[in-house]
Amino acid sequence: MRIGIGYDIHKLTENRDLILGGVKIPYELGLLGHSDADVLVHAIIDSMLGALALRDIGYHFPDTDEKYKNANSMNLLSETLKLIKNEGYKIVNIDSNIICQKPKLMNYIDEMRKNISQVLNIELNQISIKAKTNEKMDSTGNGIAIVANAVCLLESDV
Ligand code: ZN
Repeated sequence: MRIGIGYDIHKLTENRDLILGGVKIPYELGLLGHSDADVLVHAIIDSMLGALALRDIGYHFPDTDEKYKNANSMNLLSETLKLIKNEGYKIVNIDSNIICQKPKLMNYIDEMRKNISQVLNIELNQISIKAKTNEKMDSTGNGIAIVANAVCLLESDV
C-alpha cells in the first residue's frame, strides 16, 4: 500500500466561475487559475501522484502550457488515474477537506463526491469530502482564498 498527501490554494476573484469537485457553485466570486482552478480536484491529483512519488500536478500539467488553459480539472484527474493504473495501483480511498468561509458548500458535497467517484471509477464510500470554515481567520477565513487538502491510499493491483 502507498499513501499520498495533497494541498492546494487558489485566490477568489471576480469574473470567474467557482468550480469545486466539478460542480459549478453559484457565488459572486470564482477561483483564479490557469485551468478551471478546481482546488479540490488539484489537491486530490497531488495526493494520488504523491502516493507513488510521481512528482506533482505542475510537472504533469504545467500552467505554462496553453493546452491546459481553462482546462477542465476532471480531465486532469482522469489522466492522473491512467498514470496510477500504469504503475499497477488502484485507489483504496480518498479523504479531503475544503477550507472555505463562503459560500456554504454542504448542499454540493454529494454531487462533488458523485463526480469524482465517476471519473475515478470508485464507489461513493471511497471518496470523502469535508467542508470547513477557518473561523474567519487568515486568507481562507477572510474569503480571499479557498484551500483544499487530500490524502489518498493506493494498493497494488497485481
Ligand atoms: Zn490548483
